[in-house]
Amino acid sequence: MTVGKLVLQHMQPYKQGMQIDEVKRLYGLNKIVKLASNENPFGFSDKVREAFETYSFEMEMYPDGYAYHLRKKLARKLQVQDDQLVFGSGSDELIAIICRTFLHEGTNTVMASPTFPQYRHSSLIEGAEVREVPTVNGRHQLDQMLQQIDENTKVVWLCTPDNPSGELIEENDFLSFIQKCPSETVVVLDEAYYEFVDQDKRYNLLKNLASFPNLIVLRTFSKAYGLANLRIGYAIANEHIANLLNVVRSPFNTTSLSQYLATIALDDNDFVRETKQLNDEIKASFQTFLNSIGWSYNESHTNFLLVHTPVNGNEMAQYLLEHGYIVRSGALLGYPNTVRITIGTKEQMEGLQSVIRKFQTQQK
Ligand code: PMP
Repeated sequence: MTVGKLVLQHMQPYKQGMQIDEVKRLYGLNKIVKLASNENPFGFSDKVREAFETYSFEMEMYPDGYAYHLRKKLARKLQVQDDQLVFGSGSDELIAIICRTFLHEGTNTVMASPTFPQYRHSSLIEGAEVREVPTVNGRHQLDQMLQQIDENTKVVWLCTPDNPSGELIEENDFLSFIQKCPSETVVVLDEAYYEFVDQDKRYNLLKNLASFPNLIVLRTFSKAYGLANLRIGYAIANEHIANLLNVVRSPFNTTSLSQYLATIALDDNDFVRETKQLNDEIKASFQTFLNSIGWSYNESHTNFLLVHTPVNGNEMAQYLLEHGYIVRSGALLGYPNTVRITIGTKEQMEGLQSVIRKFQTQQK
C-alpha cells in the first residue's frame, strides 16, 4: 500500500546542515564555527535582548494572528497599507502559502536553477509542473524565463540577491521582465537578503507595488536582523493578493514573542546598519584573500559567498568540517565545484583562511 500524494514518493525531507554539537561529537573538536546558513554572526540587537528579558506573555493564550502591533509598525516603516502585509513563520512558510494559494495540478511555475530550493519543493507538493531555467554564472536568465511562461504559469520566482550565488538582478532587468509578464502570473521577488544590498541597488518597493498588482515581495527577520530562531518573515503585496494569502495562512502562525521582538528589532536601525557595514568589510577582506590564492567566487550582494574550489564542493566542505568550519557544499545546491560560505566575524574568517591555506599546501 502506498500512502501519501504520489509526488511525495519521489521527494526528500529538507536535509539540514550538521549541527554544531553533532560535529563536535563526530570529530572530537571543541570549537566549531558555523558558516552554513547565512545567519547573522553578530547575533541580534541588544534592544531585542533587553526586551526579551523583561517580556512576559500569557503562554496559554493564542497569539494575535493578525500581528496588529508589528503590522502597524512595519506598514509605517515601509509606507504601505496595513493590509498589504502577510506574516509567516519565516519566509519559508510564505513560500509554501504562495504555492498553496496559486498552484495545483495542471498549472506550472517558472524559476531559475539552481536557486533557493524551497520554491521547487513547495511547488511540487502542490502538484504543479516546475519549469527550471539554468542560471549562467549564477545569474537568472530572465529572457529564457519569460519564454517558459504560458497561460498556465501561475507563479514566477526571482531571488535577488540569489541564494546560493549571491548575484543581484538589476532593477532595470527586473522591470523589463515584469512588464512582459502576463498580469495573471504572480511574480515573487524574494528579497531575504535585502538589508545587505547597497542602497543604490535596492528596488523601489512602493513604485513597483503600485505598477505591478501581480508582485509579491518576500522579506525576513532571519538574516540581517539576526532573528532566525524566532521564525518570522513577511510578504508585501497588493491587498487582493495579501488577502488571498491570508485565507491560506493558518490562523496563529506567528507567536506573540516573535511578533513583539520583531517590533523591537525594527527600532534598532543601527544594528542592521552595523551588520551590513561589518559584513561588507569582512567580505572584502576575505575576497582579497581568495584573490591572493587564485580562487574565484561569484559577485556577492549579500552575507555569503559562493566560492569556486579546486575540488568538488562535498570534498571541500568535508575538509573544512573536519577542521571545525561548517559550510554548505555547493554540490548539494547545484554548483558542483563550489562551497557557499556565510561571512562570519573577522576572527572566524581569519581562522577559516588558515584552514584554506593548509588545504592549499596539502594539494601541492
Ligand atoms: N529565501 C531565501 C533566498 C533564503 O536564503 C532563505 C533562508 N535561507 C529564506 C527565503 C527563508 O528564510 P526564513 O524562513 O528564515 O525567513
